[in-house]
Amino acid sequence: MLDLLTAHFHLVVTAWAATALLTFAALFFVTAPYGRHARSGWGPVIPERLGWMLMELPSPVLFALLFALGTANEGAVAWVFLTAWIVHYGYRAFAFPFTLRVRGTGMPASIAVFGAFFNVINAPLNAWWIFEVSGGYDAGWLADPRFVVGSVLFVWGLVVNRHADAVLRSLRKPGETGYKIPHGGLYRYISCPNYFGEIVQWIGWAIATWSLPGLAFAVWTFANLAPRAIAHHRWYREKFADYPPERRALIPGVW
Ligand code: NDP
Repeated sequence: MLDLLTAHFHLVVTAWAATALLTFAALFFVTAPYGRHARSGWGPVIPERLGWMLMELPSPVLFALLFALGTANEGAVAWVFLTAWIVHYGYRAFAFPFTLRVRGTGMPASIAVFGAFFNVINAPLNAWWIFEVSGGYDAGWLADPRFVVGSVLFVWGLVVNRHADAVLRSLRKPGETGYKIPHGGLYRYISCPNYFGEIVQWIGWAIATWSLPGLAFAVWTFANLAPRAIAHHRWYREKFADYPPERRALIPGVW
Protein backbone atom coordinates (compact mmCIF):
# COMPACT_ATOMS: atom_id res chain seq x y z
CA MET A 1 0.00 0.00 0.00
CA LEU A 2 2.71 2.50 1.01
CA ASP A 3 4.88 1.34 -1.92
CA LEU A 4 1.98 2.04 -4.26
CA LEU A 5 1.54 5.49 -2.71
CA THR A 6 5.24 6.25 -3.14
CA ALA A 7 5.17 5.16 -6.80
CA HIS A 8 2.18 7.35 -7.68
CA PHE A 9 2.68 10.07 -5.10
CA HIS A 10 2.43 13.18 -7.27
CA LEU A 11 -0.57 11.84 -9.16
CA VAL A 12 -2.43 11.07 -5.94
CA VAL A 13 -1.69 14.49 -4.44
CA THR A 14 -2.73 16.29 -7.62
CA ALA A 15 -6.03 14.39 -7.69
CA TRP A 16 -6.49 15.24 -4.00
CA ALA A 17 -5.96 18.96 -4.66
CA ALA A 18 -8.40 18.81 -7.61
CA THR A 19 -11.03 17.34 -5.26
CA ALA A 20 -10.57 20.41 -3.05
CA LEU A 21 -11.54 22.67 -5.95
CA LEU A 22 -14.74 20.67 -6.53
CA THR A 23 -15.50 20.84 -2.81
CA PHE A 24 -14.93 24.60 -2.84
CA ALA A 25 -17.55 25.04 -5.55
CA ALA A 26 -20.02 22.67 -3.85
CA LEU A 27 -19.75 24.41 -0.47
CA PHE A 28 -21.08 27.64 -1.94
CA PHE A 29 -24.33 25.79 -2.65
CA VAL A 30 -24.47 23.51 0.42
CA THR A 31 -23.19 24.91 3.73
CA ALA A 32 -21.83 22.10 5.93
CA PRO A 33 -24.71 21.39 8.37
CA TYR A 34 -23.09 21.85 11.80
CA GLY A 35 -23.00 24.66 14.34
CA ARG A 36 -25.31 27.54 13.45
CA HIS A 37 -25.93 26.00 10.01
CA ALA A 38 -27.16 22.67 11.47
CA ARG A 39 -30.39 21.38 9.93
CA SER A 40 -32.27 18.12 9.72
CA GLY A 41 -31.96 15.66 6.85
CA TRP A 42 -28.30 14.77 7.30
CA GLY A 43 -28.75 11.46 9.08
CA PRO A 44 -28.13 10.43 12.69
CA VAL A 45 -26.74 13.00 15.09
CA ILE A 46 -23.94 12.44 17.64
CA PRO A 47 -22.72 14.66 20.51
CA GLU A 48 -20.61 17.59 19.25
CA ARG A 49 -17.53 16.75 21.36
CA LEU A 50 -17.54 13.13 20.23
CA GLY A 51 -17.91 14.30 16.62
CA TRP A 52 -14.86 16.58 16.89
CA MET A 53 -12.75 13.86 18.49
CA LEU A 54 -13.68 11.22 15.89
CA MET A 55 -13.04 13.69 13.12
CA GLU A 56 -9.60 14.86 14.26
CA LEU A 57 -8.14 11.79 15.96
CA PRO A 58 -6.93 10.04 12.76
CA SER A 59 -4.68 12.97 11.93
CA PRO A 60 -2.14 12.91 14.81
CA VAL A 61 -2.27 9.12 15.00
CA LEU A 62 -1.56 8.51 11.30
CA PHE A 63 1.03 11.29 11.11
CA ALA A 64 2.96 9.80 14.04
CA LEU A 65 2.61 6.29 12.62
CA LEU A 66 4.07 7.28 9.25
CA PHE A 67 6.83 9.18 11.03
CA ALA A 68 7.74 5.85 12.63
CA LEU A 69 7.47 3.92 9.32
CA GLY A 70 9.32 6.41 7.08
CA THR A 71 12.96 5.95 6.13
CA ALA A 72 13.68 9.70 6.15
CA ASN A 73 12.58 10.43 9.69
CA GLU A 74 15.90 11.39 11.21
CA GLY A 75 17.24 14.85 11.95
CA ALA A 76 15.96 18.03 13.50
CA VAL A 77 13.66 19.10 10.65
CA ALA A 78 11.65 15.88 10.77
CA TRP A 79 11.15 16.38 14.50
CA VAL A 80 10.15 20.03 14.04
CA PHE A 81 7.46 19.10 11.49
CA LEU A 82 6.24 16.23 13.66
CA THR A 83 6.03 18.56 16.67
CA ALA A 84 4.15 21.27 14.75
CA TRP A 85 1.59 18.74 13.49
CA ILE A 86 1.08 17.14 16.89
CA VAL A 87 0.81 20.52 18.64
CA HIS A 88 -2.02 21.49 16.29
CA TYR A 89 -3.85 18.18 15.94
CA GLY A 90 -3.22 16.96 19.48
CA TYR A 91 -4.99 20.11 20.65
CA ARG A 92 -7.80 19.73 18.08
CA ALA A 93 -8.48 16.09 18.93
CA PHE A 94 -7.97 16.00 22.68
CA ALA A 95 -8.40 19.55 24.09
CA PHE A 96 -10.49 21.68 21.71
CA PRO A 97 -13.65 19.50 21.96
CA PHE A 98 -13.70 19.99 25.72
CA THR A 99 -13.30 23.76 25.50
CA LEU A 100 -16.48 24.16 23.45
CA ARG A 101 -19.61 25.65 25.00
CA VAL A 102 -21.90 23.36 23.02
CA ARG A 103 -25.62 23.94 22.48
CA GLY A 104 -26.36 20.23 22.82
CA THR A 105 -28.04 19.96 19.44
CA GLY A 106 -25.31 17.57 18.24
CA MET A 107 -23.44 17.12 14.97
CA PRO A 108 -24.55 14.91 12.07
CA ALA A 109 -22.45 11.73 12.09
CA SER A 110 -22.01 12.28 8.34
CA ILE A 111 -20.02 15.47 9.06
CA ALA A 112 -17.74 13.58 11.45
CA VAL A 113 -17.27 10.85 8.83
CA PHE A 114 -16.43 13.38 6.13
CA GLY A 115 -13.98 15.16 8.45
CA ALA A 116 -12.34 11.87 9.44
CA PHE A 117 -12.10 10.85 5.76
CA PHE A 118 -10.33 14.13 5.00
CA ASN A 119 -7.82 13.52 7.79
CA VAL A 120 -7.24 9.90 6.78
CA ILE A 121 -6.03 11.14 3.38
CA ASN A 122 -4.47 14.46 4.30
CA ALA A 123 -2.29 13.41 7.25
CA PRO A 124 -0.63 10.44 5.47
CA LEU A 125 0.05 12.47 2.32
CA ASN A 126 1.82 15.16 4.33
CA ALA A 127 3.65 12.69 6.56
CA TRP A 128 4.70 10.40 3.72
CA TRP A 129 6.14 13.34 1.81
CA ILE A 130 8.18 14.54 4.77
CA PHE A 131 9.31 11.21 6.19
CA GLU A 132 9.74 9.19 2.97
CA VAL A 133 9.23 10.69 -0.50
CA SER A 134 11.22 13.90 0.11
CA GLY A 135 14.28 11.82 1.01
CA GLY A 136 14.58 13.92 4.17
CA TYR A 137 15.34 17.57 4.90
CA ASP A 138 18.89 18.29 6.03
CA ALA A 139 19.55 20.55 9.03
CA GLY A 140 20.39 23.47 6.71
CA TRP A 141 16.66 23.69 5.86
CA LEU A 142 16.13 25.32 9.27
CA ALA A 143 17.94 28.42 7.98
CA ASP A 144 16.28 28.40 4.55
CA PRO A 145 14.10 31.51 3.98
CA ARG A 146 11.18 29.25 2.96
CA PHE A 147 11.32 27.45 6.28
CA VAL A 148 11.72 30.68 8.25
CA VAL A 149 8.88 32.56 6.49
CA GLY A 150 6.60 29.51 6.55
CA SER A 151 7.23 28.90 10.23
CA VAL A 152 6.47 32.51 11.14
CA LEU A 153 3.17 32.30 9.20
CA PHE A 154 2.35 28.95 10.80
CA VAL A 155 2.85 30.27 14.33
CA TRP A 156 1.07 33.56 13.64
CA GLY A 157 -1.89 31.72 12.10
CA LEU A 158 -2.05 29.36 15.05
CA VAL A 159 -2.06 32.27 17.53
CA VAL A 160 -4.78 34.12 15.57
CA ASN A 161 -6.88 30.95 15.34
CA ARG A 162 -6.58 30.12 19.05
CA HIS A 163 -7.30 33.68 20.13
CA ALA A 164 -10.33 33.96 17.86
CA ASP A 165 -11.74 30.64 19.12
CA ALA A 166 -11.16 31.80 22.72
CA VAL A 167 -13.12 35.01 22.04
CA LEU A 168 -16.06 32.93 20.73
CA ARG A 169 -15.88 30.66 23.75
CA SER A 170 -16.03 33.62 26.11
CA LEU A 171 -19.30 34.80 24.54
CA ARG A 172 -21.28 32.02 26.23
CA LYS A 173 -21.43 31.79 30.01
CA PRO A 174 -21.77 28.21 31.29
CA GLY A 175 -25.24 26.99 30.36
CA GLU A 176 -25.84 29.68 27.70
CA THR A 177 -26.53 28.53 24.13
CA GLY A 178 -27.17 31.73 22.15
CA TYR A 179 -25.02 33.80 19.80
CA LYS A 180 -23.53 37.29 20.36
CA ILE A 181 -21.43 39.65 18.26
CA PRO A 182 -17.72 38.91 18.88
CA HIS A 183 -15.29 41.79 19.40
CA GLY A 184 -11.54 42.24 19.85
CA GLY A 185 -8.45 41.20 17.90
CA LEU A 186 -9.11 40.60 14.22
CA TYR A 187 -12.87 40.62 14.85
CA ARG A 188 -12.50 44.39 14.35
CA TYR A 189 -11.97 43.65 10.66
CA ILE A 190 -13.50 40.26 9.83
CA SER A 191 -16.27 37.91 10.96
CA CYS A 192 -14.14 34.75 11.02
CA PRO A 193 -10.58 35.31 12.25
CA ASN A 194 -10.47 31.71 13.47
CA TYR A 195 -10.83 30.58 9.84
CA PHE A 196 -8.41 33.28 8.63
CA GLY A 197 -5.82 32.09 11.18
CA GLU A 198 -6.30 28.45 10.17
CA ILE A 199 -5.78 29.29 6.48
CA VAL A 200 -2.64 31.37 7.22
CA GLN A 201 -1.32 28.52 9.36
CA TRP A 202 -1.54 25.94 6.57
CA ILE A 203 -0.20 28.34 3.94
CA GLY A 204 2.76 28.67 6.33
CA TRP A 205 3.02 24.88 6.49
CA ALA A 206 3.01 24.66 2.69
CA ILE A 207 5.86 27.17 2.49
CA ALA A 208 7.87 25.69 5.36
CA THR A 209 7.63 22.15 3.93
CA TRP A 210 7.83 23.44 0.30
CA SER A 211 5.75 20.46 -0.71
CA LEU A 212 2.83 19.54 -2.96
CA PRO A 213 0.87 17.88 -0.10
CA GLY A 214 1.40 21.02 1.98
CA LEU A 215 0.04 23.13 -0.88
CA ALA A 216 -2.90 20.75 -1.32
CA PHE A 217 -3.67 21.06 2.41
CA ALA A 218 -3.64 24.88 2.20
CA VAL A 219 -5.96 24.73 -0.82
CA TRP A 220 -8.28 22.32 1.02
CA THR A 221 -8.37 24.56 4.10
CA PHE A 222 -9.32 27.57 2.00
CA ALA A 223 -11.87 25.48 0.08
CA ASN A 224 -13.51 24.35 3.33
CA LEU A 225 -13.42 27.58 5.24
CA ALA A 226 -13.89 30.43 2.73
CA PRO A 227 -17.46 29.44 1.75
CA ARG A 228 -18.26 28.86 5.42
CA ALA A 229 -16.90 32.29 6.35
CA ILE A 230 -19.19 33.85 3.75
CA ALA A 231 -22.15 31.90 5.17
CA HIS A 232 -21.28 32.98 8.75
CA HIS A 233 -20.89 36.60 7.66
CA ARG A 234 -24.25 36.62 5.89
CA TRP A 235 -25.85 34.95 8.92
CA TYR A 236 -24.41 37.61 11.31
CA ARG A 237 -25.71 40.41 9.13
CA GLU A 238 -29.18 38.91 8.97
CA LYS A 239 -29.34 38.14 12.70
CA PHE A 240 -27.88 41.34 14.19
CA ALA A 241 -29.20 44.70 12.95
CA ASP A 242 -26.26 46.44 14.70
CA TYR A 243 -23.58 44.18 13.15
CA PRO A 244 -20.50 46.37 12.37
CA PRO A 245 -20.99 47.33 8.70
CA GLU A 246 -17.27 47.74 7.98
CA ARG A 247 -16.49 44.15 8.99
CA ARG A 248 -15.59 41.80 6.11
CA ALA A 249 -16.07 38.02 6.03
CA LEU A 250 -12.58 36.52 5.89
CA ILE A 251 -9.82 38.76 4.55
CA PRO A 252 -9.34 42.12 6.30
CA GLY A 253 -10.26 45.03 4.05
CA VAL A 254 -10.83 42.78 1.04
CA TRP A 255 -13.49 40.05 1.31
P1 NDP B 1 -17.30 28.37 14.48
O1 NDP B 1 -16.70 29.72 14.50
O2 NDP B 1 -18.54 28.17 13.69
O3 NDP B 1 -17.67 27.92 15.99
C1 NDP B 1 -16.68 27.72 16.98
C2 NDP B 1 -17.36 27.61 18.34
O4 NDP B 1 -17.80 28.90 18.81
C3 NDP B 1 -18.63 26.75 18.34
O5 NDP B 1 -18.76 26.15 19.61
C4 NDP B 1 -19.75 27.78 18.14
O6 NDP B 1 -21.01 27.36 18.63
C5 NDP B 1 -19.22 28.95 18.93
N1 NDP B 1 -19.62 30.24 18.36
C6 NDP B 1 -19.36 30.66 17.10
N2 NDP B 1 -19.82 31.93 16.92
C7 NDP B 1 -20.40 32.28 18.07
C8 NDP B 1 -21.09 33.47 18.51
N3 NDP B 1 -21.20 34.51 17.69
N4 NDP B 1 -21.59 33.51 19.76
C9 NDP B 1 -21.44 32.45 20.60
N5 NDP B 1 -20.79 31.30 20.26
C10 NDP B 1 -20.29 31.22 19.01
O7 NDP B 1 -16.15 27.37 14.04
P2 NDP B 1 -16.20 25.83 13.55
O8 NDP B 1 -16.99 25.06 14.57
O9 NDP B 1 -16.57 25.74 12.11
O10 NDP B 1 -14.64 25.45 13.63
C11 NDP B 1 -13.99 25.32 14.88
C12 NDP B 1 -12.46 25.31 14.66
O11 NDP B 1 -12.10 24.27 13.79
C13 NDP B 1 -11.94 26.61 14.05
O12 NDP B 1 -10.74 26.96 14.68
C14 NDP B 1 -11.69 26.25 12.59
O13 NDP B 1 -10.63 27.02 12.06
C15 NDP B 1 -11.35 24.76 12.68
N6 NDP B 1 -11.75 24.07 11.44
C16 NDP B 1 -10.79 23.74 10.52
C17 NDP B 1 -11.13 23.18 9.32
C18 NDP B 1 -10.08 22.89 8.28
O14 NDP B 1 -10.43 22.60 7.12
N7 NDP B 1 -8.79 22.93 8.60
C19 NDP B 1 -12.53 22.83 9.01
C20 NDP B 1 -13.46 23.22 10.03
C21 NDP B 1 -13.06 23.81 11.20
P3 NDP B 1 -22.04 26.52 17.68
O15 NDP B 1 -21.28 25.27 17.28
O16 NDP B 1 -23.20 26.26 18.60
O17 NDP B 1 -22.36 27.38 16.49
